[in-house]
Amino acid sequence: MKLTGNLLIGAQEVAATAGSMKALNPATNAEIEPLFAFGGIDDVDRAAQLADDAFDSYNGTSLTERAAFLESIADGLDAITPELAQRTSLETGLPIAQLEGEAAKSATQFRQFATVVRQGRFRQATIDPAQPERQPRARMDHRMQKIALGPVAIFGASNFPISYSVAGGDTASALAAGCPVILKAHNGHPGASELMGRVIQQAVRDSGLHEGVFSLVRGGGNAIGEALVDHPLIKGVTFTGSETGGMALFRRAQQRPDPIPVFTEMTSVNPTFVLPAALAARGGTIGDGFAERMLVTVGQACLKPAILLAVDGPGYIELKNTMIARVEATQARTMLTPGINAAYRKNVERQSNAGAKRIAAGGETQGAWDGQSVLFEVDGANILENPLLSEEAFGPAALLVRVKDVEQLVAIARHFRGQLSATMQIDPADYVLAARLLPLLERRTGRIVVNAFAHPQEVSYASIHGGPFPATSDSRFTSVGMSAIERFLRPVCYQGFPDEMLPEALRHDNPCGIWRLTDGELSKA
Ligand code: NAP
Repeated sequence: MKLTGNLLIGAQEVAATAGSMKALNPATNAEIEPLFAFGGIDDVDRAAQLADDAFDSYNGTSLTERAAFLESIADGLDAITPELAQRTSLETGLPIAQLEGEAAKSATQFRQFATVVRQGRFRQATIDPAQPERQPRARMDHRMQKIALGPVAIFGASNFPISYSVAGGDTASALAAGCPVILKAHNGHPGASELMGRVIQQAVRDSGLHEGVFSLVRGGGNAIGEALVDHPLIKGVTFTGSETGGMALFRRAQQRPDPIPVFTEMTSVNPTFVLPAALAARGGTIGDGFAERMLVTVGQACLKPAILLAVDGPGYIELKNTMIARVEATQARTMLTPGINAAYRKNVERQSNAGAKRIAAGGETQGAWDGQSVLFEVDGANILENPLLSEEAFGPAALLVRVKDVEQLVAIARHFRGQLSATMQIDPADYVLAARLLPLLERRTGRIVVNAFAHPQEVSYASIHGGPFPATSDSRFTSVGMSAIERFLRPVCYQGFPDEMLPEALRHDNPCGIWRLTDGELSKA
């Protein structure tokens, strides 16, 4: 597929209106062709108008029609996988095999959401039939279904440049819900973004949908993202990235004359609690498993385990030594963007300045944007005294915490801010302590893992990739998994409607054949 570098506004190709950029190969620091267009406020306005024009017809597509559209995106992704993986690797320094896996995951997500659409349960169709005889007052017929929120803006993530970017889970779940999407492409992988954007644009065309169902914009600086969040026709936003960026956009959206929901996924250190019996029985194995996970994708994963807490005692030295050995055996590898690399270096320095002792380092950096693996150690008292130590260093760094005793472990569990995940390594003799930690972790995380590590993320019906602030800005929702669709839906109640005027999902004879809650009972009747 030929890259033009243009913006994709509905069916149109739009050349630069506000400057341009070239992609950077982070491994060689060389620019890659072609030039990529930056758009401005007018381009956002055009895309938003088109999305708004598309809304009624797209929200009104049948379940079958919408599912087929999502599957055609999946087929399109399959067809370009080798090309997409190659281009993404050039732009991010990530290995081709890993990116092929991401492309397969992306296609799978679209197919999974096609199934969710066909099942129709996302509509949450609910029927309370009329009760004309009810005393003291008759009840009118009430029916409820969930419809799409409206056109939404999605900020592509930098760190999973395929499966959480243009053709990622946010796009799949928004389109599944019936929301037209305006995608703000991340400048870390503009060519990959265009390839995926073209697949979606083509699927829109092939499915006979309104062109405004999908647009892709790009900009230099914050103006384009701000214009999207400000636009009165945009009704929701998703974002994956820094806490600073996410909260700036969140606050901006709340200051609109009509505030809109912004679902940000920002920062998490995913603490691992190694309980005493597990530590004594298999400290070395746990240390090795933790270090392996912390180094995956050069530590640039939202679920990277970044803090390991263990009570000093039998097994601690084995755990520490295996972590040191694995970190020291790691070569420095290129990070995704110069910005991410600069933030990593700064945060590693912050850990040193905050009193963490560097106990291991991997190979020295060679390339300009390489990240060197680093392992720090502190005592439990330090982490309680200095909250900076519990902040994320996005990259291949982790902190081992030598905890004095069980009471200090519990105190540290209480001190964490919101997390995407937390892990407990436990043996049967640890169950009593684990049961004490569990409610503390439930209050602070979206996912609790036992005897494994949270990364990689499953995309399934029970998946939760969310959690209290600052992991996300809205702990009620997930950004990964089938229930991610709920971010893009809102309920509408239809009262006293004649059957022929009702939406299909709510009609008397259930023409969609979906599960519905009728008078409180779930059935397909
Ligand atoms: P970012 O700097 O937050 O940027 C993410 C996206 O949001 C980019 O498209 C960026 O546009 C846009 N943006 C950021 N701030 C904005 C603002 N105030 N107004 C309008 N648009 C704004 O994240 P990143 O570049 O992906 O990585 C930077 C850091 O984010 C990392 O070092 C890491 O700490 C964190 N991060 C965390 C996760 C996670 O999963 N938890 C994932 C990725 C990154 P421009 O690029 O045009 O500025």
